[in-house]
Amino acid sequence: MSTNKNIKLLALKYSLLIFSISLIFLLLKLKWNNLFFDFLIIISISIVSFFLILFELQKYNKFFTTDPNNNEQSQNENIELDNLAEWTEKTNKEIAELKANEKFRKEFIGNVAHELKTPIFNIQGFVSTLLDGALNDPKVNVKYLERTDKNVLRLITLVKDLDTISKLETGKIKPDYNIFDIHELIEEVFEILEVKALEYGVNLISNSQSEQLVYADKEKITEVIHNLVLNSIIYGKKNGFTEVNIQEEESQKKYVIIVKDNGIGIEPAHLSHIFERFYRVDRSRSRERGGSGLGLSIVKHIIDSHNQTLRVKSQIDIGTSFIFTLDKI
Ligand code: ADP
Repeated sequence: MSTNKNIKLLALKYSLLIFSISLIFLLLKLKWNNLFFDFLIIISISIVSFFLILFELQKYNKFFTTDPNNNEQSQNENIELDNLAEWTEKTNKEIAELKANEKFRKEFIGNVAHELKTPIFNIQGFVSTLLDGALNDPKVNVKYLERTDKNVLRLITLVKDLDTISKLETGKIKPDYNIFDIHELIEEVFEILEVKALEYGVNLISNSQSEQLVYADKEKITEVIHNLVLNSIIYGKKNGFTEVNIQEEESQKKYVIIVKDNGIGIEPAHLSHIFERFYRVDRSRSRERGGSGLGLSIVKHIIDSHNQTLRVKSQIDIGTSFIFTLDKI
């Protein structure tokens, strides 16, 4: 109904009301012709009229606020206000995320540049020296070539680890689950790292003998065990050991894999940081031994993506244990 039509109806109602009141007043006066009654009637009629008018005005007022168009408009305004609050909150969150990403990107690029710089400058230095005449000097030529080779290997490791971590962090690679024997996989990793272990004088020990089947991404778990065993060798002690144990969890649903060494250990202050990208406790030792500083963050990403747990226990000069779980078949 339109607003004008309602106002007309309202005016008609009031006119009728005033007319009725006047009529009653006239009839009463004709019957009793008493001034006191006149006064009482006028007062009561005035009060009733006042409340009636008030009631009508309230309805009228309500009518305006309950006007379907107005109502819709105010509802829309409320929705818009709610949306605005939601939108502001969402935008603030997005801005905070973007800032965090921006910070992360800057730090990441800074770290990558820093990591690349050293081996590239080293390679350039050795190649330049060789070209400047050292190539014909039998005392240094092989040594410089070997150092160049070592730096190239360091670059390769870094680029490979960067590629892996960026894929893991963008969630591009999800675990490709399959069933495999974890005992066999440990033996395979030991074979690959045999030469390295010999070089560092570390004894590799596997405490599992029989087939132990797990459900996980074989390739990625190979990387996990490879990184952990390699670290245990690099940060191990001469004539030390690396021992890999497989135990069954109490629930019997999982295997617990423990990679334990009796190496240099990690101070408690560093323990909570070692899974961060490029975090190194002993920088020179890590770089000298070709570490990219990404190994443990890759391990953590892989274990997390399998929804499994990863823990570390360490004591300076006593050794370190990395413990993680895998679903048992
Ligand atoms: P890196 O390439 O430097 O080895 P990682 O991410 O694999 O990078 O390890 C991070 C740091 O944690 C290492 O620099 C090292 O200081 C420490 N670390 C890792 N594994 C061990 C270990 N088994 N014993 C002692 N320190 C370790």
